[in-house]
Amino acid sequence: MASELQPPRGTHDLIGEDQRRHTHVVETARRIAGLYGFNEWTTPVFEDTRVFSRTLGETSDVVTKEMYSFTDRGGDPITLRPEATAGICRALVSNGLTQSLPQKVFMAGPMFRYERPQKGRYRQFHQIDVEVLGTADPAADAEVIACGWAILRALGVDGETVLEINTLGDTESRAAYRSALVGYFTQHRAALSTDSLERLERNPLRILDSKDEGDRRLIANAPVIVGHLTDEAAAFYASVRTWLDRFGVPYRENPRIVRGLDYYGHTAFEFVTSKLGAQGTVMGGGRYDGLVQEMGGPPTPAVGLAAGIERLAMLMEDLPHMAAPVAVVPIGEAVEGAAVEILQSLRSAGVRAEMAYRGNVRRRMERANRIGARAAVILGPDDLAQGVAQVKHLATGVQEAVPIGEVVGRLR
Ligand code: ATP
Ligand code: MG
Repeated sequence: MASELQPPRGTHDLIGEDQRRHTHVVETARRIAGLYGFNEWTTPVFEDTRVFSRTLGETSDVVTKEMYSFTDRGGDPITLRPEATAGICRALVSNGLTQSLPQKVFMAGPMFRYERPQKGRYRQFHQIDVEVLGTADPAADAEVIACGWAILRALGVDGETVLEINTLGDTESRAAYRSALVGYFTQHRAALSTDSLERLERNPLRILDSKDEGDRRLIANAPVIVGHLTDEAAAFYASVRTWLDRFGVPYRENPRIVRGLDYYGHTAFEFVTSKLGAQGTVMGGGRYDGLVQEMGGPPTPAVGLAAGIERLAMLMEDLPHMAAPVAVVPIGEAVEGAAVEILQSLRSAGVRAEMAYRGNVRRRMERANRIGARAAVILGPDDLAQGVAQVKHLATGVQEAVPIGEVVGRLR
């Protein structure tokens, strides 16, 4: 087959079981986020490149290596969104919503990153997103996390994941921590990867997020931020933990969590699993108080999370199975009109029902079996004359004549 008929590298089609899992994740997340008071938004899949380049951090992997950026036919710089938060902040400002805060936003959709494809890592993948914009209250950090945890529970994967939290402090704490890190990593320059040598110059915190083996060994003994926190930053972190306890969310502190994007401060967290190999983070997020202002809006503190739908779908065990359909089987063209009436009344009553477009009884019964129908409603000319249809339960083979007006009630 010609290679142009394959999906592009790092993308996948969602069909059958894959699509059902995907839909289940999105619908579950949407329902839970609704219970937590979040409202769904949809922002464009592409944005002006500056929406991301300004905000995600010049040294983040996403901006330096992973963005799908191009100039469109009108000469405008465009990027396929690599994450949702920056676009949501842009939308908050564009729509004048910085006047009505807080806003609690849920979103789901495709994201694009030019990465090396592997299990759980794609070039087009999908995320669910939960954000609270316009509050500096640590209770919001905890509520976002609690909502994420509730989504994992509703999907039945909470037992597979552990919540790890950390603080990145305020600007002053981070500056102090940064010099401590520079001191430590400068001592161990020789053992750092080339990428991390570059990070040491431009953004040393970013080294903590390195996936390089050698770097990871150094990182294990690197200084942690706790000793560098200002009183305010320490108090904020303590309050987040108090609120997590109030929400009943179990967590583990992990001082190595820094997150991949530059806009985070204070809270940083990840739900991790050991079940997906190297791609162990299923959900992550944190506080990003400076982002809306970067986007040209007023100072607007905010906190949020994102989860990879593919990774969640892989973790999920069993999907609640879809209700088996009912097949309507007319015998001969003369009764097709009456059969369609039964078909439509089943559908109106919320029963999944199908009727093959053509074919004799045998062909149509074969099709009923192929689609896994639980029952067939067989209608012949004699049945119609008597005002009945034959309802055949396919699992047992039991067949009974049912007055046409009672067929829906019998199968609902
Ligand atoms: P990783 O460390 O795995 O690269 P990340 O820190 O880049 O993840 P985020 O930007 O925080 O990821 O995105 C949130 C979530 O989106 C991740 O926890 C993961 O579940 C999912 N995700 C990120 N990148 C990809 C990808 N390329 N393919 C599939 N899912 C992804
Ligand atoms: Mg990444």
